[in-house]
Amino acid sequence: MTNEPRFWAVGLIGPVASGKGTQAELLSEELGLVHLENSKIIEEKFKNDPEDPEVVDAKKAYLAGQWINPKVVVKWIVGTMKEIADRKDGIVLSSAFRTEEEAGEELEFFEKNYGKENIKIISLSLSEEVAMDRSLNRRICKANRHPIPNFPEFKNITTCPKDGSELETRILDKPDTIKARYKEHFTRTMPVIDFMTKKGYNIIEVNGEQSIEDVHRDILNKLW
Ligand SMILES: [Zn+2]
Repeated sequence: MTNEPRFWAVGLIGPVASGKGTQAELLSEELGLVHLENSKIIEEKFKNDPEDPEVVDAKKAYLAGQWINPKVVVKWIVGTMKEIADRKDGIVLSSAFRTEEEAGEELEFFEKNYGKENIKIISLSLSEEVAMDRSLNRRICKANRHPIPNFPEFKNITTCPKDGSELETRILDKPDTIKARYKEHFTRTMPVIDFMTKKGYNIIEVNGEQSIEDVHRDILNKLW
């Protein structure tokens, strides 16, 4: 397609194990976008500001398996997005628009900083069966949290192909948790998609059950 960096704001939506992180990485490389992930921002906050009362509360909720106050998460995310937009870099969010409130804030930020025509929303679809199968063996690298999906081409690797660091299984990946997260995605995300459609956004639908390469190719074909 093109290797020219794009001043785009791309958001990926999809259930657990739909490959959002993997696809965000590929788009980041292909289009020169900064890959931003909520969980990474949250973890960095936990590490860098452990005394901050907001961080203390958020950590409590996180350890209890509850959602962190969306207002706080959005504030942290928008703060990081601001730094990226100020550098005039494009951005790809691998865990975008999880609630209507989050979507409202993020879209407002993107419209102001990137322009509505440069906002691209991609929805990856995946059945519960495939989500379960992929999740139970999914791993991430310790150094940079690169996702190692449960695809045949990654079955036998023991270290991260990008940085050689050790791999670990994601703590959240237990059968009941995956089922709950899969269902939660739909109850939370459907109203968000309705909200964005009403605002005039075209949601790019891609079948997430295909191979990584095919999903990536479909996304690129539909982005233009
Ligand atoms: Zn890595």
